[in-house]
Amino acid sequence: MSCSTAEPVTAFPPPPQGEHTVLGACPHDCPDTCSLLTTVRDGVAVRVQGNPAHPQTGGVLCTKVSRYHERTHHPERLITPLKRVGPKGAGQFLPVSWDEALDDIAARLQAIAARNPQAILPYSYAGTMGLVQGESMAARFFHRLGASLLDRTICASAGAAALEYTLGTKQGMRVEHFAQSRLILIWGSNSIGSNLHFWRYAQEAKRHGAKLVCIDPRRSETADKCHEHIALLPGTDTALAYALMHECIRHGWVDHGYLAQHTVGWNQLQARALEWPPERAAEFCGIPVAQIHALAQDIGRCFERQEPVAIRLNYGMQRTRGGGNAVRAVACLPAVLGAWRQPAGGLLLSSSGAFPVQRQVLQRPDLLAASGVPKPRVINMSTIGDDLLREASPTFGPRIEALIVYNSNPVAVAPDSGKVVQGFQREDLFTVVLEQFQTDTADHADYVLPATTQLEHWDIHTSYGHTDVLLNRPAISPLGQARPNTQVFRELAARLGFDDPCFADDDLSLCRQAFDPEVDFEALLAQGFVTLPLSAAPFAQGGFPTPSGKCELFSQRLADQGLDGLPEVLPNHEPVGSQPRYPLAMISPPARHFLNSTFVNVRSLRDAEGEPLVELHPSDAAARQIADGSTVRVFNDRGTYVCIARITERARPGVVNGMGIWWRKLGLNGTNVNELTSQRLTDLGRAPTFYDCLVQVEGT
Ligand code: SF4
Repeated sequence: MSCSTAEPVTAFPPPPQGEHTVLGACPHDCPDTCSLLTTVRDGVAVRVQGNPAHPQTGGVLCTKVSRYHERTHHPERLITPLKRVGPKGAGQFLPVSWDEALDDIAARLQAIAARNPQAILPYSYAGTMGLVQGESMAARFFHRLGASLLDRTICASAGAAALEYTLGTKQGMRVEHFAQSRLILIWGSNSIGSNLHFWRYAQEAKRHGAKLVCIDPRRSETADKCHEHIALLPGTDTALAYALMHECIRHGWVDHGYLAQHTVGWNQLQARALEWPPERAAEFCGIPVAQIHALAQDIGRCFERQEPVAIRLNYGMQRTRGGGNAVRAVACLPAVLGAWRQPAGGLLLSSSGAFPVQRQVLQRPDLLAASGVPKPRVINMSTIGDDLLREASPTFGPRIEALIVYNSNPVAVAPDSGKVVQGFQREDLFTVVLEQFQTDTADHADYVLPATTQLEHWDIHTSYGHTDVLLNRPAISPLGQARPNTQVFRELAARLGFDDPCFADDDLSLCRQAFDPEVDFEALLAQGFVTLPLSAAPFAQGGFPTPSGKCELFSQRLADQGLDGLPEVLPNHEPVGSQPRYPLAMISPPARHFLNSTFVNVRSLRDAEGEPLVELHPSDAAARQIADGSTVRVFNDRGTYVCIARITERARPGVVNGMGIWWRKLGLNGTNVNELTSQRLTDLGRAPTFYDCLVQVEGT
């Protein structure tokens, strides 16, 4: 099986002497996809700034990524392949050569594939959002191998499914138009922490007199800066949306022309909305009825003055059992109001559907035919805890024997992490992790392969918050022996004898292929970004890409699956009050200085964050005699998470906020907040229900 390591296919320019800047793109799982300007001095990245020439970035980066050079040149960067020498999970490794690692990995995968390639599972997500270092060469490799497919559900699939059933696409308002909105509902989002560049537009609107309303169980930094904050219980958003519709119907704030021309199902939706008067919704949502009346009045005032009403949804609201239906309900509101008629009206959850990505070209699903497994089974990444522990069966298929993890840290981020750890600790599981740092997941690997950061490789990016394509150039040569993901999969393909010419494509060619011929690649090379030519108001004249061509308030496709064709108010899997031993609801929003589990190891950011925290309302703390700053146990039947209590009105009564996502090994008892979350899924999109979780909190 020996195969001499090919020269890296991607050519990197030799590090020039002196100082220069390089255009790039932020790779992180954030809607803003900023354009980066990296200053390189004598081959070392010394500064990372926002590109002032890119309007969406406006020369500004968030605190996390403005320290990206620190992260790249971090003393704990993995720079050599490592082989496990201790027990699984103990994090004991010795350096090995690339050839030794890749020869052994290829041999192990080949032996498993000879029995059944579906026993091999790739596990990846948005550790980079790049199309090339994400799913290009990796997807080609796993397709050609016939490995199990991964259902990539962990973040956004409930909302994505909801948008597709309602609007027909993951598209919405252009983000820059929020600056002209008159009323902005920021729903399920802490924009200051996780959508900073939208927040700039919201601020501009506020300066021009717009009203900002934040709808979020937590009083976030964003809620502090909005005119109103509606702190509803997690998982009750559909009822609130219906109550707002109820009031619009009652007062005649309904665009009958738009509804008649561009929607289906208004009569049914109207009847359902009338079942949700504000009083009923207020009780269900755990909020004062006056707040619903006041918000409805704000909407009505804009409607009467023909002023644009805009909704910035984010993914927080879809992390409960009924999350998909909640997004559907909220996505109906702009059609009811006719808000889509104006560029500054409507809704934005994701813009990713606007990008003409050539996924078939990048990922080559046609290679499955040569693998002998034309339709591999699909494993949901959100149930990896259970699936790693499952035996072979006719319904499940083969036991998972090998796991190749890249761009993800499932031991920290997947729900019900006690089970996830148990699975990763299986001695008979062969695990390879491509990583930049020794994460919780890397600790459980048989081989850890050092991966390049965004400053060291080519990539190309869509965005889910704006509508520009961005190109990322390597600013510096790879550190140590780090390699781009693409290079690792090219070399594994060579060792397994996969000789399709697509395995020889270099990274720059992959970047070219990603949007060819829809986006001018020369313009991307020249300025680093290209704005898609889209209309200012995408649904002003209807044109929804659904089967009916209309906004589907009632979805026949859902009804045909035996589901409710209308947005349905679904109680949580774990409704408040249903389990007396666990009286508190818990959500786990991102800590401000982390991005999921990324950046937790950057000392300056971790210091800014302090310690693993749970926020409790003063009344909940007093009832448990918990003092601010004390160590507490947060627990349920799934596990126990020990952290520091912060007594604050950022938490509403009855709901605690377990700020995420710390690495387990940096936690006070070696766990993190996902020790408590469940593997139950959402109504649509098979997504996890991180914010549908009951717990109890006790002093230690
Ligand atoms: S705001 Fe988002 S896209 Fe911009 S630098 Fe920060 S993480 Fe990256």
